[in-house]
This record gives sequence, C-alpha cells and structure tokens, in this order.
Amino acid sequence: MDALPPVHGAPGPSAETTAPLAGGVVPPATTARLFLAADPTFAAHRAVYGPMPSIEHPNALVDELRLSGLDGRGGAGFAVWRKVAAVRNSSARRSKRPIVVANGSEGEPLSRKDETLMRRAPHLVIDGLLACAAVVGATDATLYVSTEGANVMRAAMAERADAAHVAVVVAPDGFVTGEATAVANALEHGVSVPRDHVVHLSESGVRGRPTLVQNVETLAQLALIARFGAAWFRSIGTADEPGTRVVTVSGAVDIPQVIEVAGGTPIRAIIDACMRPDHTLAGSLIDGSATPLSATEGRPSPVRAVLVGGYHGGWVPGDRLSVPLSRAELAPYGAQPGAGVLFVLGATACGLETSANIAAYLAGQSAGQCGVCVNGLPAMADVLSRLAARHRDARLPAEITRLADLVTGRGSCSHPDGTARFVLSSLTAFETDVRAHLEGRCEVHG
Ligand code: SF4
Repeated sequence: MDALPPVHGAPGPSAETTAPLAGGVVPPATTARLFLAADPTFAAHRAVYGPMPSIEHPNALVDELRLSGLDGRGGAGFAVWRKVAAVRNSSARRSKRPIVVANGSEGEPLSRKDETLMRRAPHLVIDGLLACAAVVGATDATLYVSTEGANVMRAAMAERADAAHVAVVVAPDGFVTGEATAVANALEHGVSVPRDHVVHLSESGVRGRPTLVQNVETLAQLALIARFGAAWFRSIGTADEPGTRVVTVSGAVDIPQVIEVAGGTPIRAIIDACMRPDHTLAGSLIDGSATPLSATEGRPSPVRAVLVGGYHGGWVPGDRLSVPLSRAELAPYGAQPGAGVLFVLGATACGLETSANIAAYLAGQSAGQCGVCVNGLPAMADVLSRLAARHRDARLPAEITRLADLVTGRGSCSHPDGTARFVLSSLTAFETDVRAHLEGRCEVHG
C-alpha cells in the first residue's frame, strides 16, 4: 500500500498556544503538526518549525515530557519521560555513557507511518534524536531503520552539521526485529533477535550501557514538545490521549493512507476520512449500533470489524466504531492505539479466515529461541485455521483459549502474548461466525 498525503482537519487550539514565538515561528494550530514542511529539506523544516532550542536544562525537558503525557508510538505505549529519566538516572548512577537509538524499522506489516514520517519529515526525527541524546548525555546516537528509511535519513543528515556523528543501521525485515531488545542485539551482535527482559535496557543495553530506544514518531513529537511545550501538545486530543498520532489506515476503505489524527478520535471518524464523501459511515451509525449501509451500487460494504493496533492488536466489531482511539476504551477489545494501525475488514471478508492467515504469519515470525513460541504459536494458528475452514469440532474454541493461556507470559519477548491476545480477540469479535463455522456454515462463503 502506498502511503498517501496525510489528511488534516481537527479544530485548532486556543489563541494563546498559537502565539508567534521568537523568530516569528507559529506553533501548529491544527492536527497538521508533523507534516507541515513543504518538502523534506532542512530549509523547509526550519522555515516552518524554526531552530531546535538547545537543551540547557535536561531536567526541564524531562519535566515537560511528563506534563505533555506523550507516550511511545512504536507499539507498547510507555510514558516517554519515564524511559528518558530511567536512562539518565542509570547513566549517572553507573557512570556509563548511554546510547540513544531512533527505531524506524517498522516490522508491523500493516504500518507505513514511520516510513512516511521519515520520507516527509526526517528533520523532526533527527531533532528529536539529538534532543534525547542531549538530555541523557549520550554521545552515541543511531538510526535503526528500513532500507528506504536509511536512504532518506542519510540524505537529510547530509544537510546538517549537527548530525554528522549519527550512525545508520539498516534493520532486517521481520515482525520482531524492531522489538527494543532485538534492536539492542542488532547493534551489539548484528543479530536482530529479542533478548530476555530480566535487565531493562535503560539499565544495561548495548555493550552494557544504558540504552534508550525510541520510535521515530515519538522522537518527532518530542522535537515539537521541546519547541512549543507541553501545554501546546495537550491543546489537541483528550486529557488521556493528548496530542496527535499518526495512523495507517488500510483494507476496505476508498483511500488507504497515512493520516495524522487527534488523540481520542473515534474510529468511525478516521475511517470516514479515508472514504469518498458519498461513502462515509457517519449516517449509518445511530446510538453506537451499526445499520448496514444500503446496497446501492458503488457504495462500500458495511464494516465487519476493524483491527486496531496491528497484528498484535485486537478486532473492534463493526457495531462499535464510535470507540475512540484510546488505551482505556480499546482495552476491552484487547486492542490499543499502539503503532497506529487500523485495518478495515469489509462485509465480504470472513473475519476468522483473515485472522487465521494473520495468526499463521505471526507463528512464522518467531525468532526461534523459546520453545513455547516455536511450538505454541504454530499449534494455536493451526487450530484457528481449522475453525476458519469450518471443521465441525466443538472443542476448537476451548483449545485455542487453552493454547493462548499456555503461551502468554512465557516467551523472552512479548511476541507470544501479542499473538495470543490477537487470536483471543478474533474469537470474541467474530463470535457469531465461530458458531456458524462450527455448524459448517460461513456468513461470507455460505
Ligand atoms: S518469544 Fe518468540 S519471538 Fe520472542 S524471543 Fe522467544 S522465540 Fe523469539
């Protein structure tokens, strides 16, 4: 899927948060925050955002990050200020120089946001990386990115003198190669497989040094907070989901694209932003319950479900699309905003079949280190595929649940947990289909 230009349109913040700063720079006033530069050049970047302030008081920026509520945009959603403070403290306590890493490896197959961000706003990523390095006192900074990302980031770095020391490491393809400990392993040993989480990377990561790994969108957001402050960041979004986030929308939409949206935006509104005007869902939802769109020729099928958070996320059923992109509201569905992935499943697709294909892919992505992952995930995917193929065996759902329980919490990394969560969410979201399949029927395939 090609990443198309972002869509913007949320209302702007109050006047005081958009007052011009020194140099005439005006803080972005709408959801169009990260993609404002006319092109990816340093000149266009500086024209819109102005110079990056020097980090003279690292603790002040950590505090600003805490007040902003910025969470990581790579998937896990940790509070950014906590990770930064942990590395800073560990470095001071152990007298070890830390390492900072920008992670743009984007192993999630449904995500294009990091690639789009690096292509369109590479200097925000570099600003954020250099700011992080300054805050924690790191002299080593690395970009761990896809091949495409490496090309655009190298071109951007060549435009500015302050990034000459930043190393670029190309990440191999693979679902788990972007996991933070896999990143640390890649930089230290050249092998992108996760390692045990017994010791946090903030304590001992690459070559035993405190290591800070941040997603590239997280760094771009941090670069804006360093310029415009926490209050400005919070002027869009909700109290629990402040700021904007970049999401990738694909599947049964007219315009698959990468868009920047306000935190807490309802899923339905995001989907509508990816539909032609005559295809929007807004009119089809009354009091949170879906009414199938009329079967007028040319109109899209109603949405069966939306996979939120990517392959380690969860399905939100089509009659619950008023749910906002928020950790608290998505939790009941086993989903989270995560890396900002929305995959829309239309009515002509079988949810169990799609889920079985994804589970089989995830089973094949094991790094081959933990028995429970190597054996448990293929077994779980196999049972789900039998259910998808309409085997009349009433024991299948219970067996899936048993295997999901068995693998959860037992791997060195979160891959088994994420896979189990996704598979369980499939059973819940497609409950009606499960019953039909056990009777040898399928709503889609008959
Ligand atoms: S849980 Fe799976 S993916 Fe994670 S380290 Fe173990 S084998 Fe590798």
